[in-house]
Amino acid sequence: MSKNIELNVFAHQHSKLLNERAYSAVELVEATLQNLKDHELNAYITVTESLALKQAELADERIKLGTAGPLTGIPIAIKDLLSTVDNITTAGSKILENYRPVFDCTVVERLQNAGAIIVAKTNLDEFAMGSSNEHSAFGPVKNPWNYQKVSGGSSGGSAVAVANRDVSISLGTDTGGSIRQPAAFCGITGLKPTYGRVSRYGVIAFGSSLEQVGPFGRDATDIANVLQIIAGIDVRDSTTVKIPVPDYQEDFDKGLAGLRIGVPAQFFQDGLDNDVRLAVENAIELFENEGAIIDRSLQLPTSPASLPVYYIIAPSEASANLARYDGVKYGFSFLEGKSVDEEMSLTRSIGFGQEVKRRIMLGTYALSAGYYDAYYLKAQKVRTLIRKEFERAFQTYDLLLTPTTPTVAFGLGEKIEDPYSMYLNDLYTLPVNISGNPAISMPCGFSNELPIGLQLIAKPFDEKTLLRATHAYQTLTDWHMEQPQN
Ligand code: GLN
Repeated sequence: MSKNIELNVFAHQHSKLLNERAYSAVELVEATLQNLKDHELNAYITVTESLALKQAELADERIKLGTAGPLTGIPIAIKDLLSTVDNITTAGSKILENYRPVFDCTVVERLQNAGAIIVAKTNLDEFAMGSSNEHSAFGPVKNPWNYQKVSGGSSGGSAVAVANRDVSISLGTDTGGSIRQPAAFCGITGLKPTYGRVSRYGVIAFGSSLEQVGPFGRDATDIANVLQIIAGIDVRDSTTVKIPVPDYQEDFDKGLAGLRIGVPAQFFQDGLDNDVRLAVENAIELFENEGAIIDRSLQLPTSPASLPVYYIIAPSEASANLARYDGVKYGFSFLEGKSVDEEMSLTRSIGFGQEVKRRIMLGTYALSAGYYDAYYLKAQKVRTLIRKEFERAFQTYDLLLTPTTPTVAFGLGEKIEDPYSMYLNDLYTLPVNISGNPAISMPCGFSNELPIGLQLIAKPFDEKTLLRATHAYQTLTDWHMEQPQN
C-alpha cells in the first residue's frame, strides 16, 4: 500500500516536504505511480515504474546526505519524443513502437543528474505533428476539464499529466506551439525557450530549425527550476549557444512595474473568440494597474505569414528528418515485399499515420527541383522578414502580450477531417518558432468552463523577464490554482 500523500502541490513544496522527511522519494513515487495508473485520459504511453523506483532510492540517499537540489526526488513525466535508454521511445508512432534508444537525451540526463525521477513517457501527436493529440498511434488524449474536448497537442499527454495533478512538472517540445497550446487548453503554464537555449540532442527530430524542449508546470517557480537545469550549451548539439544561464528567479520580487509591453494588433483580429479576448483584456488591465507600460500601437504586419511559412518549412524539414525510418535502421519493418524497395515503401505506408504522410508529401514537394525556389526559398526569405520584425519590436519593448490560442479547447473529432482549420489553431504560437524568441503561456480565465491561455513573448535568451512577469501575474491572480473536477 502506498502512503497517503497529497499530490496536488507544487514541485517546490514537495521538495521542502522531502527535505523535512514528511515522506521519502520512494513513497512519493509509489503514490504518484498509483495515481497515474488510475484514470482514462490516455496521457501515458509507458509508465517507467522500475526505473522510477530505482531513481527514488538514489534520491533518498542524496536527501539524507544533504546534497539534494530543488528537483531531487521530484516525479516528472516526459514527452515520448525524448530518448530514454532501455525504455521504449515511440514518438507516438507505430513505426517506432518497439524502439529502445541506446542513450538518454541530454535533457533527461541533466534532470536525472539533478535527482529528478522519470515516472512516465507521455502520449503525443505522431512525431509531434498536430494540435490536438488525435494524431497519435496510441489514441487521443482527453482534456481533464471536459472529456469530450481535446487536450491540445502535440505535447498533450505532458500537459494533462500536470493539469490532472498526476505530477507537478513535465517536459514537452514546441515546434510551432506544442507546449504553449496544450498548456493553454489544459489550464497550466508552459514555456518554449529561445532556440539554442536547450539541447535537442536525443530528441526525435521533426522541424529541427524550429523546435525546443521546455517545461510544463503550475507556477513560475517550478518552471524556472526545470529550465535552470536543462538550459545551457551542450557539446553534442551545435545549435546550443554559449550564453551563460542566469539565475531565473533573481528578479522574482521586481513585479511588473516599468516593464514595457507591446500588444500587437495582428493577434487580436477576426477569428479571436470573444471570451478569450475579454480574458486577455482583463490581464492587460491588471498589468497596467501594476505599473507596466502598455502600448497598443505595435504592428507586426508580417507575422500572420508565419502560418504559410511554417507549413512549408516544418514539413520540408520533416521530410528530410523522417527519411531514416525505412524499416532497416529503426523500429518497425514490414518484410513481406518482393524487393527491398517495396519493403521500405510498405514499412513507411503501414508505419506512418495520415498526418505524417501528408507532411512528408508536402515537404518533399516543396523541396523538389522545380519548386524549391517558389516555396522553400521564398518561405525562408519571409522567415527572415518575420525575425527582423520581432527584432525591431524588441528595441522598444521588454515583452509582447497576446492570447495563446484563438479559442479554448475544441471537441474531439471536430477538426480532424479539416487540416487547414486545425493548422489555424497555431496562428498565435507559430511566429516565435519562426523568429526563435522565447514565449510562455499561463492561465488567465475561463470560457464555458474551459481554460484560456495568455502568452508573453520576450527577447532571445531573456527567459528571466518572462518568468519574472509570470511570477508577478500569478502572485496577483489565482487562475493557475484552478483545477479540473473529475
Ligand atoms: N501544431 C503544430 C504542427 O502541427 C505544431 C506542432 C509542434 O509544435 N510540435 O506542426
